[in-house]
Amino acid sequence: MLKLTATQRELIESVRRVTAKEVAPIAREMDESGQFPSRLISIFGEMGLMQGLIPEEYGGPGLDLTTLCLLSEEVAKVSLDCSTLVGLNTMAALPILHIGTEAQKDRWLRLFALGKTPTAVAVTEPHAGSDVAAIRSSAMRDGDDYVINGQKCYITMGSIAHYVMLFAKTGDVARRGVDNISAFVVDTKTPGFRLGRDERCMGIRATPHSELYFEDMRVPVENRIGEEGKGFIAAMAAFDRNRPIIAASAVGVARGAFEVALAYAKERRAFGRTIGEFQAIQHMLADMVMQIEAASALLYQCTVVSG
Ligand SMILES: Cc1cc2nc3c(=O)[nH]c(=O)nc-3n(C[C@H](O)[C@H](O)[C@H](O)COP(=O)(O)OP(=O)(O)OC[C@H]3O[C@@H](n4cnc5c(N)ncnc54)[C@H](O)[C@@H]3O)c2cc1C
Repeated sequence: MLKLTATQRELIESVRRVTAKEVAPIAREMDESGQFPSRLISIFGEMGLMQGLIPEEYGGPGLDLTTLCLLSEEVAKVSLDCSTLVGLNTMAALPILHIGTEAQKDRWLRLFALGKTPTAVAVTEPHAGSDVAAIRSSAMRDGDDYVINGQKCYITMGSIAHYVMLFAKTGDVARRGVDNISAFVVDTKTPGFRLGRDERCMGIRATPHSELYFEDMRVPVENRIGEEGKGFIAAMAAFDRNRPIIAASAVGVARGAFEVALAYAKERRAFGRTIGEFQAIQHMLADMVMQIEAASALLYQCTVVSG
């Protein structure tokens, strides 16, 4: 089992307090109404959670991945919608950190570190999910700009984001390849950026998962992160540190469900006793704990390796 540091325990405690006050009372209403209250973005930004992995040298909290996962877990116990805010800027910030120039780091990371800027990452397209090399969005160089055309889908917070980290082909669009994809920071106010519909999801319903369209959208060359053709590698490196945060929210929501089930088993009575006194129910609860702890062990082994 993970041995927590004193700082991690304090951070968990303070996130638990804020979540109990600000999120728990509205978690159900958010999910049922499908509305994401924008004030939560400020609250999570002020706590440093949205921008958790941005290093201190760029004004961020400089949390390590294990700590951010512990905090994601804590929020997800109460609301999966809000856990999407934990590390939200990770996929926008990490490519800049990995391959961006010093000027780009100074410009974007310092902005994201303020915790006031929701961002999104746009990789997936209707025909290309796991197979990132098959994306067809194109970015064609024209003087000091790129002209971007394409369609993205399932983009978390896409309709709320101020900036999108967009991945598009700068070479032959039809060729599957890892060396012809580049990354761009796109201001969502840029002409040619258009929102499609938000997906109708089975859960996490307050968090928008949006379709985005890019129609002859001109983006200046200085918004291309790093060199042309390095986007695929930067995306994969960013996923390595982003996916564990999503796994942590899955562990968190399972822990939250277990706590509710345990409380109910102790309260609900049948045949003259609480249902938790029946061995069949005890087996179910024991199985839940076993699976949660197995998932947690795998997750934190992974975060320790990924840093
Ligand atoms: C809640 C949610 C939020 C998301 N947020 C974002 C976001 O913010 N930005 C973004 O760009 N994308 C986002 N996505 C998209 C997500 O990244 C894709 O759904 C994911 O990459 C899988 O792609 P796909 O859904 O097209 O499935 P596919 O890639 O078509 O896969 C279909 C099935 O085939 C399996 N499969 C695929 N390849 C292989 C293989 N080589 N071997 C064996 N099995 C395989 C998969 O495991 C899966 O079961 C989000 C998705 C969800 C559900």
